Amino acid sequence: MADYYNRMEEFPVKPESRPGDIYKSIPDAPPEKPESMDRIFRDFREIILPGMTHWQHPHFHAYFTANSSYPSVLGEMLTATLAAQCMMWDTSPAAAELEEKTMNWLKGMLGLPAGWSGSIQDTASTSTLVSLLSAREKHTGFNSNKSGLYDNRVLRVYTSTEAHSSIEKAVKIAGLGQENLVRIPVDGSLAMIPEKLEESIVSNLANGFIPMAVVLAMGTTGTVAVDPLRPVAEICNKHQVWLHVDAAYAGSALVLKEYRWMADGLEMADSFVFNPHKWMFTNFDLSAYFVRDPELLVKTFEVLPEYLKTKSRGVKNYRDWGIQLGRRFRALKLWFVIRDYGVQGIRDTFRKQIDMAKDLTAWLEKHPAFEVHKPQHLNVVCFRLKETKDRSPEERNRLNDAFLQKLNKTGKVFLSHTKVRGLFTLRVVLGQTRIRERHVEELRELLLGNLDD
Ligand SMILES: *Cc1c(COP(=O)(O)O)cnc(C)c1O
Repeated sequence: MADYYNRMEEFPVKPESRPGDIYKSIPDAPPEKPESMDRIFRDFREIILPGMTHWQHPHFHAYFTANSSYPSVLGEMLTATLAAQCMMWDTSPAAAELEEKTMNWLKGMLGLPAGWSGSIQDTASTSTLVSLLSAREKHTGFNSNKSGLYDNRVLRVYTSTEAHSSIEKAVKIAGLGQENLVRIPVDGSLAMIPEKLEESIVSNLANGFIPMAVVLAMGTTGTVAVDPLRPVAEICNKHQVWLHVDAAYAGSALVLKEYRWMADGLEMADSFVFNPHKWMFTNFDLSAYFVRDPELLVKTFEVLPEYLKTKSRGVKNYRDWGIQLGRRFRALKLWFVIRDYGVQGIRDTFRKQIDMAKDLTAWLEKHPAFEVHKPQHLNVVCFRLKETKDRSPEERNRLNDAFLQKLNKTGKVFLSHTKVRGLFTLRVVLGQTRIRERHVEELRELLLGNLDD
């Protein structure tokens, strides 16, 4: 594992595998007799490793990072060694109490409302589902848990046209129906337009729908656009609509005072999620979910059969804070990370990465071959080839797509893309734990080296 981290940059960031290559090189039947760890490990190195995308490579600039770090790996190894099933306080008091404490640490670090409570979920997708299920129960007086949604008026959820696919998935799973997810238009910065939200809520009310919840994007996945929280929260409060804040990636930046504006008005919301497993050096998975009203949350999920009854009082049984019964001891790696870095260390690392992104943006803007999507936010830069010849949007998209493929084919970097108002746009995330100035220089050279004449 240590070797891997040291030799990381020798690997192509994204493998050259063709579909089925790896599947075919693994026997169809499991071994009848035990195999030696030497053989198993040799196959790991020869079959598995060449087929991996190296997410911890400093030149992994795609999607959002899922960054890790030494303290995180050590914590995770201990979690695997203890292999405790931490469904409730009695099945591992230390896991429950460390979870409560680390969530309080995060709450303080990010400046979230002091009275809120946190729990660890596996992913932001699950956290958002948990939030919408809580909202559903609140709006139906816990009747949908009891009798199903059959007799209720139609509940509606609102989110921006740029919001993450996990919201649509949650709406489907919660039994609300995809058709009842209302997509609110965005402004020039790709942030939700609050007036459009209110129009939608008011007209839905007039038509007999029940506006149930708004999911606000604090940092969209495409371009890290930030929906305006305070005006949206005021609309939600006025119409008694549940407000969930999806800050999966950008939430980490709230440790920096200069980004606290994103959370202005958060005290009016009902829940908030961010992923330390994206941008806080804690390996996947660990999603931090915070709620204003933990009793409502527990009431939504609690089921108490005889075999789970315990005598302990005044303790937190996190099985009631979400969907699954069984829970991994996730808090341990987060505890290791926060202590090993120190809050100041986390802030310093974020600021360095954000500065790198600002520098890259300035460089791209100055270069005649590129144009940058603005506002550029945090450590993510969205850009495309500048148009000089009056090509059709389709032709421009094709050229940008080809440019992206060419860059990724080098194996030296891995970038992904998004569409901004229909235009194919490359995305660079400078969020890897091991990224340094040198890597940004290498990236610039690679961009120049792959331009067509
Ligand atoms: C990544 C992302 C998610 C989904 O995160 P998971 O933890 O993988 O479920 C949700 N919302 C936004 C804005 C994201 O960027």
